[in-house]
Amino acid sequence: MNIEDFQSIKKLLSKPKKIVIVTHRNPDGDAYGSSLALYLYLLKFDHEVTVISPNDCPDFLKWMPSEKEIVIFENETKKASDLLKAAEIVFTLDFNALHRVGERMLKTLEKIDPLYIMIDHHQQPDDYAKFSYVDPKVSSCCQMIYQFVEKIEHLSYLDTDIATCLYTGIMTDTGSFRFPATTCETHNIVANLLEAGANNSEIYNKIHNVSTYNRLQLLGKALQNMKVVEKYRTAYITLSQSELNMFKFKKGDTEGFVNYALSLEDVIFAAIFIEDRKQGIIKISFRSVGDFSVNEFSRKHFNGGGHTNAAGGRSEVSLDKTEKNFIDLLPLYQNELQK
Ligand code: 5GP
Ligand code: MN
Repeated sequence: MNIEDFQSIKKLLSKPKKIVIVTHRNPDGDAYGSSLALYLYLLKFDHEVTVISPNDCPDFLKWMPSEKEIVIFENETKKASDLLKAAEIVFTLDFNALHRVGERMLKTLEKIDPLYIMIDHHQQPDDYAKFSYVDPKVSSCCQMIYQFVEKIEHLSYLDTDIATCLYTGIMTDTGSFRFPATTCETHNIVANLLEAGANNSEIYNKIHNVSTYNRLQLLGKALQNMKVVEKYRTAYITLSQSELNMFKFKKGDTEGFVNYALSLEDVIFAAIFIEDRKQGIIKISFRSVGDFSVNEFSRKHFNGGGHTNAAGGRSEVSLDKTEKNFIDLLPLYQNELQK
């Protein structure tokens, strides 16, 4: 986006509008952080703003500023649809293909024709928005929101709640500032967020130090189920629905499990396959280190996508069959995986 585009958006937002902010299904810290930060910022200009999330978030995000104001499409479909139909502007945050809101909400989006503004950091954006502020090199959508507010010269509007939301998303999407997308710019921005009142230590504890006993037992099960394919420097974990039930699985419980597989010495490609009987799918997360693009791998074979080193996907065959399909694919990538 060029300077004129930012100025056009600034002008567009200078008078109160009906605005909806939408994020992706199974929202994470970056999805909620960016949506809530933009929401709190837009409220300062007397817009009628609502955040709509396709489904609910994990419990470890349920403390975020104004999280209770978010309308969950799955629970309040009529209210959410009416808001979307009335919206003049729809921001889509932390995703770049409309189907990422899930089948049901997509049907509503297909019936409306608002002015779309996409702010995102994923690769290969679809072309549905009038304005797309997208940079796949940036750590998180929250960092993009900060840069967006900076570009329209409104950083003076940052407050403690906005800073808290932005810090949360940057922290979660960078694996607490470990992943390669964490740059000097990220740290400079984070410094400004602390100055604006974000409490780094408190936010970390609220996100990470809230495991239940069952979650840790489920992690134990996941680690026992982990398999290593040494030849292709690959490790993966499976969790069946009955294993999830055994440990009273709640949304968010498996967050981060895949990273244990990736943390193995010499492993550069990791995956977790989680059975979801209700949806009739296997939900997959892929992670890699180095050049092997799990975005490409997932797009090609598992109906998904994301970033070079972190992507999601799904499979509609059984857990066993999915595992077999996955193993059978590895030899196709031997050049990249055996490097
Ligand atoms: P996760 O494995 O944590 O669900 O997702 C890893 C990354 O890939 C996140 O940035 C997420 O937004 C993205 N992602 C997850 N699932 C999909 C998908 O089905 N399609 C695309 N394009 N991106 C995805
Ligand atoms: Mn993100």
